[in-house]
Amino acid sequence: MPDTASDPLIARNAGILATLQGGKARLPSPNAVALQLMRLVERRDVGVFEVCRVAKGDPVLVGKAVQLANSALYAGLRPTAALEDAVMRIGVSGLGRLAVGLSVVQGSAPRLGDLDLQGYWRRALACALALQHLARRRHALAVSEAFSLGLLADIGQLAMLAALGAQALGDAPASAQRLGWQRRRWGFDQSQASAALLYHWNFPRALWTALLPADAEDRPGELAAMVDVARGLAAALDTRRALEEIPALCARALRIGFDDRALRDLAEALQSDVGDLVSVLDMPVSVQLARDELQRLRQSLDVPAEEPGAADTGVLLAGPLAAARPDLQRALRAEGLSLQAEPDLAAAFERARSWLPHAVVLDADELQPAAAEACAQLRERLGARVYLLLLGDQPDADQLPQLLRAGANDVLPAAASAELVAAKLRAGLRMLRLIEALERERAQACGRQRELAALNARLREEAYSDELTGLPNRRALDAFLAHACEHAVASGAPLSCVLLDLDHFKAINDTHGHDVGDEVLRAVARVLQQHSRVDDMLARWGGEELVLVCPGVAAQGAAALAERMRAAVQGLRGELPSLTLSAGVAQASPGQSEAAGALLRAADRALLRAKREGRNRVVVDDHPG
Ligand code: GH3
Ligand code: MG
Ligand code: MG
Repeated sequence: MPDTASDPLIARNAGILATLQGGKARLPSPNAVALQLMRLVERRDVGVFEVCRVAKGDPVLVGKAVQLANSALYAGLRPTAALEDAVMRIGVSGLGRLAVGLSVVQGSAPRLGDLDLQGYWRRALACALALQHLARRRHALAVSEAFSLGLLADIGQLAMLAALGAQALGDAPASAQRLGWQRRRWGFDQSQASAALLYHWNFPRALWTALLPADAEDRPGELAAMVDVARGLAAALDTRRALEEIPALCARALRIGFDDRALRDLAEALQSDVGDLVSVLDMPVSVQLARDELQRLRQSLDVPAEEPGAADTGVLLAGPLAAARPDLQRALRAEGLSLQAEPDLAAAFERARSWLPHAVVLDADELQPAAAEACAQLRERLGARVYLLLLGDQPDADQLPQLLRAGANDVLPAAASAELVAAKLRAGLRMLRLIEALERERAQACGRQRELAALNARLREEAYSDELTGLPNRRALDAFLAHACEHAVASGAPLSCVLLDLDHFKAINDTHGHDVGDEVLRAVARVLQQHSRVDDMLARWGGEELVLVCPGVAAQGAAALAERMRAAVQGLRGELPSLTLSAGVAQASPGQSEAAGALLRAADRALLRAKREGRNRVVVDDHPG
């Protein structure tokens, strides 16, 4: 057990939880199946069947997964009733997302005043998908963890509403104002409440601290910045604001390696993903969908097409009709199909399991009244890649949909001509082959696309970051600074820039060698980054020079920051040779043409003075304009 007394964050979590649990409402929470799935999904050695075994613990999840697999997203594929088929189609990670999304939706308290719950979950899903995407790009945390973290990032808001009622949120609209108001009124804010809940659900510390409000000291830098960007994107999508109108979001995104174009691409992808997911979560479970899908399949089966290659295609005739219909056997053999007949149903089921035929013709009358159950069993044993044809007179109009839902591909009268049965099988097998080819092709295409996207992301990242220190490079800085200057002009907010240069660095190289020089540069980059704020950008300008851009900060504030950085570098201890730095500070002048260049020149002027006046100091440019 962590020691609450010595860890102020955990002590605060305990206090928040006590307040929230003091209310009568049940706290919203993902269920055990969802949490277990999220963990499984991340492991590459776990197969679809293992994942399905866990998923079956949540019947609503199974229903929704099958519904999603049969939805318009996968138009043109055979309706499926088996969870395994559905999971192969939507993907194991798709199932994981669905599980968490659903379980939280179901678990949330219904009495939440005027809160638009659907809107809330739409934003939460957008935030989850955004964070997942950022995590994939930055390799900062497991992708599925990113999804749950994003989904639950603002769960504190729901919990506060549920426990404290409508007055929990106050009426401050802007988020920073609201958080301040909440802290004064309740002693904690909704972001701290989110963090406390995730702590309560045993999320790792690095994850829940990333949810703390932006001014908290203990937030893990990069992950917290990713959470900020994901939250910002979700809000932008929800309010339909153009990203250009939110320069603070663009600036934050750039800090974690997303330029304007990458951010726009991400927003567009999110928009459609969120739509798909929300519509599935909202869909009532309906058989109509499966029927429509089936109808589409039937139509496609009527289209004449070339003969399937029948060699090695096995068909099992199961039940008494196998013996009773020699004409059927002849017709199927004439098709070149490899046929096995087994009049005893139990034995036929066994045979099916060991032989794995491509199609099974089942005696439905013999199976009554448990035909649907038998279909489901066969489907479960044989999976998606088998065509199940039922022959029988007893299934009435009501029972047909049930049989089809249970996994049958078609039902024909027992007396159907051998030619018709053979034709159905031919068409069914052809359809299976088409689906297989399609899925194979899609898997290859997905793989290739993912490779390309990863390569692209890597190239972009490399193009914008400095190899030695990992800081943004000059190119990234130019983009950021141009953006920041535009915003400063448009908003009238101040903007400052600090040029930092290590003193006598050449001597360090000369005395200790280039490798030690490199190590010093990395150490300095780390220290300076720790001292910069979320909205600042620290970049390597080249050689032993770094640049800090501080949007919203006037020269004096930037000078104070630079002074702290100077002192921190001077105080660096350990194996490294001691060193100092000099800094030049300048503030952008409103209305200046070519503002970025002028700002950098002014900072450089101040730096030169700092060097001349004896180094190890901060100088502010005194020639504005
Ligand atoms: P001053 O106090 O005037 O800034 O003196 P200085 O020696 O720091 O400045 P100068 O510009 O004369 O030398 C900078 C040195 O930085 C020269 C170059 O070899 C070294 N340097 C530049 N990039 C790197 C690098 O990536 N790794 C290492 N180890 N050294 C570098
Ligand atoms: Mg230099
Ligand atoms: Mg130098």
